[in-house]
Amino acid sequence: MNVWVIGGGLAGSEAALTLADLGFPVTLFEMRPAVMTPAHKTSKLAELVCSNSLGSLSSDNAKGELLFELKVLGSFLVNLAFEARIGGDKALVVDRELFSTLVEDAVRSHRNITVARAEITEVPEDVPCIIAPGPLIKEDLLHFLEEREGRCEAQYYDATSPSILTETIDMDYAFWGNRFGEGSDYLNVPLSKEEYYWFVEQLLNAREAHRHDFDKLDAFFERCLPVEEIARRGKESLAFGPMRPTGLAIPERFRDVHAVIQLRKENASGTILNMVGFQTGISHTNQISIFRQLPAFKNAVFVRLGQIHQNRFLPGVVNKFFQSKTNRLWFYAGQFTGTEGYLESIAGGLWAGINLARLLVGEELIPLPEESMLGGLVTYIEQSLPEVKQPMGVNWGLVPPAEGKKSERKQKRVDRARMAIEYAAGELDRVT
Ligand SMILES: Cc1cc2nc3c(=O)[nH]c(=O)nc-3n(C[C@H](O)[C@H](O)[C@H](O)COP(=O)(O)OP(=O)(O)OC[C@H]3O[C@@H](n4cnc5c(N)ncnc54)[C@H](O)[C@@H]3O)c2cc1C
Repeated sequence: MNVWVIGGGLAGSEAALTLADLGFPVTLFEMRPAVMTPAHKTSKLAELVCSNSLGSLSSDNAKGELLFELKVLGSFLVNLAFEARIGGDKALVVDRELFSTLVEDAVRSHRNITVARAEITEVPEDVPCIIAPGPLIKEDLLHFLEEREGRCEAQYYDATSPSILTETIDMDYAFWGNRFGEGSDYLNVPLSKEEYYWFVEQLLNAREAHRHDFDKLDAFFERCLPVEEIARRGKESLAFGPMRPTGLAIPERFRDVHAVIQLRKENASGTILNMVGFQTGISHTNQISIFRQLPAFKNAVFVRLGQIHQNRFLPGVVNKFFQSKTNRLWFYAGQFTGTEGYLESIAGGLWAGINLARLLVGEELIPLPEESMLGGLVTYIEQSLPEVKQPMGVNWGLVPPAEGKKSERKQKRVDRARMAIEYAAGELDRVT
């Protein structure tokens, strides 16, 4: 039976590869390049629209744990991300072009997948389907699904940060170095107290970029705040947030360092650097004029400027298997379900793909243990999201607390999550 996957982003590509690998013929519908979103720049599948980091690799970090779990469950995109890995210290940072190319090649060369470049506006009731249109879903499909699922629409914002040509940065005013450790994956531009306060003032007085009427909402997703919004929350908020100078071996030539702007390599060759945590919705002219007044960026050439986009998701639309509550043949995946983040989108694609495959061969759907990170995330999406209407990225708050001595609890939580996912993978394998 032919399966539809709608959306060739992170979730859709992962879902298509998962299903195709299990022997199902898949048609993957992707509307780009004929119809673009405000954030995508290419026609490639699995394009990373902003940062090129998939998150930390550390075992005690929630993203690191999710990465581990996705590897155990056999994620295709996570394996390809490791192939496209460039520096990044303890993070899984990829060459974004190479990553998308690898995904595109894997999908196109799979004998069970047909890629159809078309915009889908309606989903047939009787076709097994994974709906993964992402947060920038087009109106027609959104309205069709809202009506069909009978759920309310929630909205929130997300933002991108500027990227600069490395060779245009004045290295006399910057230094390479990672926080708390060896390596030189990050370029740091230190600011004195005086420069920092001037900078905050500029952000507060800057003009916002023009937004469409439907984008004029006064709400931000707390974990991806624009810098100007952080600055509005207090004079020192940035210095204690994305601009904190902690953990850096600052060369002696820089005195009175109060804050730093960090930049991270965006491609394997390091010719482009992306400002870390510098999402902004300030007008493009203002961004250029503010940054260029800092000596390091006096001649900076911006490859991309920050922008804010509306993101959409349908709370309450799925159960813990990412299956529609109204049509058993429809599964949802990715940011549109209310998960937040690249890795979480990949996880959604994998989980929805596994479950649709099981449904189609008449196998029981097995829930994930809540002690695992992915189990905690899908539980949140099923149970909490309909109420709180805030999307969720992985964090240790999603799994039940561990018992025992305080000093041992963190490690216990990790060990328990790993045992849980390995057990679940065994169960899933046993009957697939
Ligand atoms: C501006 C912005 C910046 C972000 N930055 C980050 C970040 O730095 N780090 C992070 O972890 N997360 C970030 N996110 C959040 C999220 O991780 C990404 O949006 C991620 O790409 C979501 O994956 P997805 O597969 O759900 O959707 P997408 O990757 O957006 O894929 C959806 C695909 O579906 C296609 N499509 C949509 N509608 C249709 C249709 N009707 N018919 C056919 N095709 C369709 C789209 O063209 C797209 O290719 C950002 C989100 C946005 C909007």
